[in-house]
Amino acid sequence: MELAATLAALIGERHVLTGDAIGEHYRIDITRKYKSHPAILVKPATTAEVSEIVKLAAEEAMPITVIGGQTGTVGSAVPANGGLALSLERMNSIVEIDLLSMTMTIEAGCILQTVQETAEAQGALLPLDLGARGSATIGGVIGTNAGGNRVLRWGMMRDMVIGLEAVLADGTIVSSLTKMLKDNAGYNWKHLLIGSEGTLGIVTRAVLRLRPLPSSRQTALIATETFEQAITVLRHLEVVLSGRLSSFELMWSNFFATMTEAQLPQRPRPMALGHGFYVIVEAMGGDADYDLAQFERTLMRLIEEGVMQDAVIAQSEREREAIWAIREDMTPGLTPLRPFASYDVSMGIGYMPVFAAQAGQNLAQAYPAAKILFYGHAGDGNLHAIVSTGQMNPEIQHGFDTAIFNAVRDVGGSIAAEHGIGVSRAPFLSWTRSPAELALMRSLKNAIDPKNILNPGKLLDAMGNG
Ligand SMILES: Cc1cc2nc3c(=O)[nH]c(=O)nc-3n(C[C@H](O)[C@H](O)[C@H](O)COP(=O)(O)OP(=O)(O)OC[C@H]3O[C@@H](n4cnc5c(N)ncnc54)[C@H](O)[C@@H]3O)c2cc1C
Repeated sequence: MELAATLAALIGERHVLTGDAIGEHYRIDITRKYKSHPAILVKPATTAEVSEIVKLAAEEAMPITVIGGQTGTVGSAVPANGGLALSLERMNSIVEIDLLSMTMTIEAGCILQTVQETAEAQGALLPLDLGARGSATIGGVIGTNAGGNRVLRWGMMRDMVIGLEAVLADGTIVSSLTKMLKDNAGYNWKHLLIGSEGTLGIVTRAVLRLRPLPSSRQTALIATETFEQAITVLRHLEVVLSGRLSSFELMWSNFFATMTEAQLPQRPRPMALGHGFYVIVEAMGGDADYDLAQFERTLMRLIEEGVMQDAVIAQSEREREAIWAIREDMTPGLTPLRPFASYDVSMGIGYMPVFAAQAGQNLAQAYPAAKILFYGHAGDGNLHAIVSTGQMNPEIQHGFDTAIFNAVRDVGGSIAAEHGIGVSRAPFLSWTRSPAELALMRSLKNAIDPKNILNPGKLLDAMGNG
């Protein structure tokens, strides 16, 4: 293939693969629902190389998909058949840590956990944290505007990106690798690219905002009887802990029962079954003794007042891990439910019980034997759902999607809180976005990528009639 040969001459033969030599990681997504046969895989080492690759591909109108850790759950990093897969795995350097400005300049192929650990070793915190931290890349978390466990306190990826460098659809390099928190000089183009799932530009480097590393961390598993009580606890902790509350991960009782049951006997259940709701609560601060005493006192008071039924506070790193494992080590609990569908929706927090009841009702009507588990970053209005009947085909998938997204639409929520649209959510995008919003999105895409080269077949491009 002529293009492959030209690319090999540009970046080296070892870094250009074609046909069957392209491994599964670059062709199949994590859910294994989406598979493809890209013609070429390229692994550039510099932004200039990315730019030259894009120019060459653009000449042939060849679709380009950037592949990060391939941990996205909506099929957005699966390349087009016959297209170009671009991996930034060789662009994985930490360019600079500036502890005065509290910024970190990073190449987009760097793994999130590596960035977190490098920052921590320097006494700084990159607050973004999610279960896929060991594989997700900085380009991927920017490309999806990832959220995760600490949005409640520090926001989403968008809130952590100060500067950005990207390659546009014609190969132009746009760079604003600044360290300024404030910059209102015209349109802020970087926010267009963040969360655009590789459809508007290829992020090559970023300047991320760091925070001082908290020196104390308190983690608890708490239980309430009702959803309203859980929210009362959330609001109380927000006030009393004066901004130190970092995570509030709500779990419906059947999610807690399923996950903890599957982890036995290796991991004893940290709290008895029988409560309505369970929450992993975490606070981070700067005075270990004071913070722990205040955390314990606050939880005790909430129990005495009858708002909370039980609380287990982690007394060691091992106990903290055991609490977080309920949310993060989900494979044992999910395995018997395979094949299942998973959802990532958001809404005003107050609507969550209405949504959950309605989604359950919609599902039960169509699939009386369906099992549905709710959990999520509820402090941010973000709920995840796992739905299973033990069988899956496109018709069942569509039935599940319709049941869940109808309930989301009824409460004025969003079909995609943090994982994005990709392929799997695209048929439903118009359910929670107006025609005017969709038209604006199309205008932007057409203006920035007129040949529709960047990640075609995803997001707007994948919209059916839903
Ligand atoms: C166990 C688990 C837990 C998860 N928890 C969370 C969570 O709590 N919160 C959350 O938000 N997500 C979560 N996710 C989803 C996933 O980890 C995120 O979407 C993550 O941001 C994807 O990063 P990635 O490097 O794997 O990107 P990929 O999956 O490879 O790509 C995702 C999208 O980003 C684009 N992209 C990749 N690199 C670039 C780049 N350099 N420039 C432009 N676009 C690019 C791709 O083209 C694609 O459209 C979870 C996933 C798993 C498997």
